[in-house]
This record gives sequence, C-alpha cells and structure tokens, in this order.
Amino acid sequence: MRFNRLRLSGFKSFVDPTELVIAEGLTGVVGPNGCGKSNLLEALRWVMGENRPTAMRGGGMEDVIFAGTARRPARNFAEVSLTLDNSERLAPSGFNDDDVLEITRRITRDVGSAYKANSRDVRARDVQMLFADASTGAHSPALVRQGQIAELINAKPAARRRILEEAAGISGLYQRRHEAELK
Ligand code: ATP
Ligand code: MG
Repeated sequence: MRFNRLRLSGFKSFVDPTELVIAEGLTGVVGPNGCGKSNLLEALRWVMGENRPTAMRGGGMEDVIFAGTARRPARNFAEVSLTLDNSERLAPSGFNDDDVLEITRRITRDVGSAYKANSRDVRARDVQMLFADASTGAHSPALVRQGQIAELINAKPAARRRILEEAAGISGLYQRRHEAELK
C-alpha cells in the first residue's frame, strides 16, 4: 500500500497543522539542522504504532506533544494521520473497504494514545499488524534512523537477525505466535 500523505498537528516541532504529500518519486527531505526532518520520520513511525519513547528520542511517550517555546504555549495533544492508497484492497478485512485508508493516532496528556481507521476506533494492535503484514511499520528496515547504520555494524547476531526477519516480512508471524502462546 502506497503512503500518500502524512498530516501532523501538535507533534514535536510541528505545532501547527502540517501536511506532507508523499508524491511518487519523493526521495528526500532537506533542510537546516533542527528544522524537523527526523521528527517527520518519527511521526511516520509513531502513527504506525511505535511504543518505545526512546525511538522517539524521548523519556516518555507524551514527550512527542509540542512542549511549547518562549512564544507559544505547550499543547495538550498530538495527532498524526497517515493516508494510504487502498485501491487494490490490500488492507485486511476489519478496515474500511475504501480506496483511501487513513490511520490516525492521537495522544492526549494524562490520557494516552487512541487510534482510528477512517474515523472508526481501532486498537493499537490492529494498526501494528496492518503495517507488520505489509512488511513495513515502526520497525521497518526501510526507515533508517540517524546513527542506525553504525548500530547495525556493531549489532550482536540476535539483533541483526531481527532486522533480517523484519526485512523478510515474517515479523508479523512472530507477533501472532507470541500472542497465541500467551492465550
Ligand atoms: P538535523 O539535521 O540536525 O538532524 P533535523 O531536521 O532532523 O535536524 P529534528 O531533530 O527533527 O531536526 O528536530 C529537532 C527540533 O525539534 C528541535 O528544535 C527540538 O527542540 C524540536 N522538538 C523536539 N521535540 C519537541 C517537542 N516535544 N516540542 C517542541 N519542539 C520539539
Ligand atoms: Mg535529524
């Protein structure tokens, strides 16, 4: 499923509603240091269900909410929406049978995260599985963090294996097996 558009509001430095059109052929985002390039990639990971604050360079998940500046007050929530092209109906049943699938995650201070698929409430797990089955998601090897290449080179064999499994598209199966074992 192609990603069409990323919308952010109150997420990190993107305090005002911002829309990134992910047009075919987009290969890079450039800008001066601190302008929010890494924040964009983190927003993409976050809306796909990333739950480790460290992956967002924060101490707690609420650190993704705009923290305020000398001139602007902090926000109480952050929201990111990712629009996917579902014209080939690749989204599993349970998601909307529509040409466009929009996944939204919103975090509210002292409340936590909530997810929607085309305005309908869904669970974090549904969203994580949707992307895991499409061989993408928060841990996709296609999303390379700053400094990650050095980590990969220095990784222990077990950690390197996880990266290969994600690339092979079988990590969704591991997640299901883990859940089956818990039942
Ligand atoms: P570089 O080229 O150095 O890698 P970058 O374009 O990747 O820079 P980011 O790391 O995405 O920049 O953005 C950093 C900016 O985001 C900093 O100015 C930081 O203060 C701001 N920022 C991060 N979290 C928040 C937050 N919760 N609220 C407000 N601003 C934030
Ligand atoms: Mg950066």
